Amino acid sequence: MKKVLESEPVTSWLSGMARPVIISGPCSAETENQMIMTAKQLAATGKVHVLRAGIWKPRTRPGQFEGAGKEGLTWLIQAKRETGLPVTTEVATPEHVELCLEAGVDILWIGARTTVNPFSVQAIADALKGVDIPVLVKNPVNPDLELWIGALERLSKAGVKKLGAIHRGFSSPEKGPFRNAPMWNMAIDLKTRIPDLDIICDPSHISGTRDLIPLIAQKALDLDMAGLMIESHIHPDAAWSDAKQQVTPATLGNIIENLVVRTPSSPNKNFKDTLTILREQIDHLDDEIMQKLASRMKISEQIGQYKKENNVTILQVSRWEEIVETRIALGRAMGLSTEFTNELLKLIHNESIQVQTRVMNKMEERV
Ligand code: PEP
Ligand code: MN
Repeated sequence: MKKVLESEPVTSWLSGMARPVIISGPCSAETENQMIMTAKQLAATGKVHVLRAGIWKPRTRPGQFEGAGKEGLTWLIQAKRETGLPVTTEVATPEHVELCLEAGVDILWIGARTTVNPFSVQAIADALKGVDIPVLVKNPVNPDLELWIGALERLSKAGVKKLGAIHRGFSSPEKGPFRNAPMWNMAIDLKTRIPDLDIICDPSHISGTRDLIPLIAQKALDLDMAGLMIESHIHPDAAWSDAKQQVTPATLGNIIENLVVRTPSSPNKNFKDTLTILREQIDHLDDEIMQKLASRMKISEQIGQYKKENNVTILQVSRWEEIVETRIALGRAMGLSTEFTNELLKLIHNESIQVQTRVMNKMEERV
């Protein structure tokens, strides 16, 4: 098979560490105290292997907190000194790379908004020529596997040997339950194309809200990812960036404690039985069905809002009849029984009506 990366096979450099490797720390280094306190509490859990903090923050809109910059780097290095843990941060320009190398940052990562741009990735790769430092590449914001692989190749060609990938989900026009759609297949495809590459999952940026982090983290481990990057802050609700998705160091400890680490195959049989493979496929599909249903309800919510504003009734019989008729025909063509589709539609429709009713009543309270 033709090698994807032109340099030597990617070293599984993370495998020297515990598996799963846990990277944690605040979304952004905000102040010296916040950085050091968070780092100390994370180290005290005994579950964290690498500390993270954003120093230069790529924000979607200007005017938001754009990172502490150079000064923040000194706090991160101090956190490293005080905890004895290696540290990592995001680099987006050759200048960031230079400052990190000077300061003694142990691992660099390339953010999702940088991976999309081959010019930026090439500039970073050029700045890393002849430097032996591990680099983690987040997936690009858009679901483009070639772009993700391209970024890894640019670094590999520049001589970077310790490479890894971070799966942080993808922007999607569909408003599902997650901030960034996980699209697990993209990570699986990357692993299939570059089997030696370690992939770390970032449940914080996939979830967007702290409640979903354990679910995503477990799913990542079940897909045999090498580790997790999870954002943690001493006062999550007061965070200057990504407040909703950060957890306290104590919660981080609990999340890790409750994860079930499974091995890809049991020691006495080196193959998965058929039932396991089929069940994994079912799990995967159920996951997608739940996401689609949640997206559908979100749209129902918007419809409820629109109907209220325009004085339209929630139930419109003709529309419902059209839905039943077209979906049953579609279902039948795909081998689903009329009875099953009918029952399923009824359940979905009832929930949708309830969602819309809630929206209407909420608005009435305000009038
Ligand atoms: C981050 O890790 O804080 C970050 C900005 O992530 P991403 O590049 O995945 O959006
Ligand atoms: Mn963040």
